[in-house]
Amino acid sequence: MKVVLISHTLDPEAIVAAAINQCYSAKSGEELKEEISSEKRERLIDIVMNSGHLSTIEHASFTFAVEGVSRITETQLVRHRIASYSIKSGRYNKTHTNFIVPPKIQENEKARELVEKFKKSLEKTISELEKLSFKYEDMRYLTPQGTATNIIFTMNARSLLNFFEHRLCLRAQSEIRSLAVEMLKLVKPVAPNIFKFAGPTCEIEKICWEGDLSCGRWKGIKGGELRTRNVKKSSD
Ligand SMILES: Cc1cc2nc3c(=O)[nH]c(=O)nc-3n(C[C@H](O)[C@H](O)[C@H](O)COP(=O)(O)OP(=O)(O)OC[C@H]3O[C@@H](n4cnc5c(N)ncnc54)[C@H](O)[C@@H]3O)c2cc1C
Repeated sequence: MKVVLISHTLDPEAIVAAAINQCYSAKSGEELKEEISSEKRERLIDIVMNSGHLSTIEHASFTFAVEGVSRITETQLVRHRIASYSIKSGRYNKTHTNFIVPPKIQENEKARELVEKFKKSLEKTISELEKLSFKYEDMRYLTPQGTATNIIFTMNARSLLNFFEHRLCLRAQSEIRSLAVEMLKLVKPVAPNIFKFAGPTCEIEKICWEGDLSCGRWKGIKGGELRTRNVKKSSD
């Protein structure tokens, strides 16, 4: 996959720091944006990140262009509702011959051969349906979920932190985790004080909430713990 940060709020941490300070200051936002030093910026961002008053970081937005991710990853990505998405149309673009094959399948010679056979049979079916004058929008129902697509999407910093929390967790599927890894590499240099808090809860809070499904990584983290919310069982 290819992941590019194509745009972001100009000087995102200056805007966020001004927004935080606006809550306590009589000065105009314009003045605040100009006068806050980089040390004060870091201090202000630390305060909201630790207290959880995160609406102020919503002023910083980041737009990504992603090429060559599967429809499976697209489905998982768009579950993150606090975002804007534009996705290549599968009605008008022929996509059935270009699908993502997971590395584990690619590494196995026999499995690779089976996938090639499937690909050829799918191509043949589509071409025969074309001869019968079916529209691609109908034929695409036969395409695999691994079909590759391109997406442009925008998330604000708060939504991105939520995305990173869920999708950098080892329980997330590997393709979307790779996407999250690449996205974090791109946003960290642009807003380092915000995105130093990006990661799964085991890394950031030393707490794993995954219960029986936990990958167990918390055990290797100093002070790490596996916790459950205080939900009472009906028998309690
Ligand atoms: C490992 C893993 C496995 C998963 N498995 C499944 C699965 O099997 N089936 C499945 O359906 N999903 C599954 N998901 C998707 C998951 O349940 C979330 O839909 C997804 O991670 C998006 O998270 P979100 O809702 O926090 O994000 P967003 O939609 O971006 O929302 C961000 C935050 O805004 C608030 N919010 C947004 N919309 C509302 C609303 N309508 N009402 C109240 N608050 C709102 C919430 O606080 C939310 O956390 C899985 C996710 C992961 C990481």
